[in-house]
Amino acid sequence: MIQPEDIRGIIHSHSNWSDGSNTLEEMALAAKEQGFEYLVISDHSKSAFYAQGLHEEKIRAQHQLIDELNNKLTGFTIFKSIESDILYDGSLDYSNAVLETFDLVIASVHSILKMTEEKAMQRLITAIENPYTTILGHMTGRLLLSRKGYPVDHKKIIDACAANRVVIELNAHPSRLDIDWRHIDYALEKNVMISIDPDAHNIDGFKDTRYGVLSAQKAMVTKEQNLSSMGLAEFRNYLKKNKGCQIMM
Ligand SMILES: [Zn+2]
Ligand SMILES: [Zn+2]
Repeated sequence: MIQPEDIRGIIHSHSNWSDGSNTLEEMALAAKEQGFEYLVISDHSKSAFYAQGLHEEKIRAQHQLIDELNNKLTGFTIFKSIESDILYDGSLDYSNAVLETFDLVIASVHSILKMTEEKAMQRLITAIENPYTTILGHMTGRLLLSRKGYPVDHKKIIDACAANRVVIELNAHPSRLDIDWRHIDYALEKNVMISIDPDAHNIDGFKDTRYGVLSAQKAMVTKEQNLSSMGLAEFRNYLKKNKGCQIMM
């Protein structure tokens, strides 16, 4: 069963380029210092204007900074990502040419959360079928004790993730814990990987991975079934192999 020390990289984090409070460099140095092998920086996308989501020119600038930092860091890598909004029609909010520039894409719903199951499913399935989607972020949008998630058919979403080789996030923020652990066994049965991600908005947020691990333990997840348990080389390979894989199928 997965243990807290099996988390080897921070996947899903925000810097002060969007609504996080630390600089990208501070986030990377802190993650390295804490023994993590990589940081996936996934600031908000341009439709999340309330969170200072990144327009295309900012993405180019951030990628340049990441390249510079990666040249300085040894034994640690920052991966280029984005938490791309799933728009009302299910599309992501950048062109394919821009999506192509990321090492991985986390697709999440942040707007118009009040919807029928039919609409929620159409949006999510369309996003899962997008060849650039690597991880489906916080599947239902629920906030524990304050907001119910939109209704979804978990099995159908998991089936779609299996068919499109999309990883399902276990968002480890204590108010999310989304995907709910009770649905994880079906994901594992379908060989869909889970990713225990802190959704960190500052350095302090890294430690939320522990709540994700506790939740994953209830579903008997092993470290082999969790994306953020991959070491640096394995993670890099995984991304290379899976980028745009749906296009080739
Ligand atoms: Zn989000
Ligand atoms: Zn996020």
